[in-house]
Amino acid sequence: MRLLLVEDDDLLSTPLRHDLEQQGFAVDLAKEGVEAEFMGNEIAYDLIVLDLGLPKRSGIEVLQNWRGGGNATPVIILTARDAWHERVAGFKAGADDYLGKPFHVEELVVRLQALVRRSHDMLGKGLQSGGLELDEERQQVILPDQARRDLTGTEFRLLRCFMLNKDKILSKTRLTEHVYEQDFDRDSNLIEVYIRRLRDKLGKQVIETRRGQGYIYVGVET
Ligand code: CA
Repeated sequence: MRLLLVEDDDLLSTPLRHDLEQQGFAVDLAKEGVEAEFMGNEIAYDLIVLDLGLPKRSGIEVLQNWRGGGNATPVIILTARDAWHERVAGFKAGADDYLGKPFHVEELVVRLQALVRRSHDMLGKGLQSGGLELDEERQQVILPDQARRDLTGTEFRLLRCFMLNKDKILSKTRLTEHVYEQDFDRDSNLIEVYIRRLRDKLGKQVIETRRGQGYIYVGVET
């Protein structure tokens, strides 16, 4: 996950960058508006954290230029806590979220994660196959009518294996290898139990049984 941090205050950006890197983000830092605008357009960031009060070009102007040029990278703006007019201007310029200074890094991180989730949902980046879609973040399957079903970890891995191999016969042995951790006591009879649960959630016809061979994911009728 690559993130652009735009902040001119070293006292804030140095520890913030460290904390974000600890959270697994690859962080690039820009300290003024012109450079920030250039970097945001040149590099495919997953997220941008944008301070509004910047040297050379204001954060609002940078954001307007990004959006005007078709750059849709999710942006969270950092504003003074009591400056409601900054937040309004930020949203009008195309911000996706904001955080008032001072803030806790934990809050910034959960807001960034929520932004990533939303942007993936909008782009439909989840695995799609046979009319179903997997939402990895929420461990859910999305049906053609957009209804969502929660899945357990094993059900999720099993369904993903099927969806990646649509219309192919998968033996119980092969499914067991894909679904369980290495050292797990592999009982291939359990696969039948999990397939029954998937059929209960998705419809009986979604996974067909081939006697003596295994199972086939055929998808849902749309
Ligand atoms: Ca500033």
